[in-house]
Amino acid sequence: MNFKELGLAQPILKALDAEGYTTPTPIQEQAIPILLKGKDLLGVAQTGTGKTAAFSIPIIQLLLEQKEASTSYKKVKALIVTPTRELALQIGESITAYSRFTGLRNTVIFGGVKQGKQVKALEKGVEILIATPGRLLDLMGQGFVSFKDLEYVVLDEADQMLDMGFIHDIKKIIAALPPKRQSLFFSATMPKDIVELSKKMLGDFERVTI
Ligand code: AMP
Repeated sequence: MNFKELGLAQPILKALDAEGYTTPTPIQEQAIPILLKGKDLLGVAQTGTGKTAAFSIPIIQLLLEQKEASTSYKKVKALIVTPTRELALQIGESITAYSRFTGLRNTVIFGGVKQGKQVKALEKGVEILIATPGRLLDLMGQGFVSFKDLEYVVLDEADQMLDMGFIHDIKKIIAALPPKRQSLFFSATMPKDIVELSKKMLGDFERVTI
């Protein structure tokens, strides 16, 4: 199996080639077709398995397909929530690399720094937003983030977010999203609380365990 056989568009294939990716990892091979069909996904996978590309690439592909049929968006269409600044920045870098030939924009928001630059980036308009929970809620509360046009949401490292005490923040964020959306839920472990949270967030989903 290669990336072309997964049905990915030329600008994405070109970017993956530039990254030196030749073969999809197991989670990519399993998750990408499910996500391209529009299904919700529960991914039980650790960092290092290639899970970032497994969720980012299909979202980029789906946004690209729509974008060709419509005008430029500049609205947040995809939200990725992750527990730490480091993970958020890493995901942002990966998405920038995978989408570099598509014209899609992304930005990363996280706490511990002044919000000015992050607000400016949001005001310029992005299709993909990567965020840590606290700063996201903060900027939502101030009216800087609208999820009116949101279609895709990814909860990354859900068990770590729970351990860090973000459960209420996550519930508030999910409650602010349009109910008609595609939801992706990733966790390295599946304790009871996480199973419950995943049930709240996901619709009819498929599960991939790596
Ligand atoms: P992740 O699990 O998303 O943190 O990814 C782990 C590392 O694997 C990152 O450095 C990615 O750039 C790299 N990676 C992801 N997918 C592939 C692939 N298909 N081929 C080669 N490297 C990859």
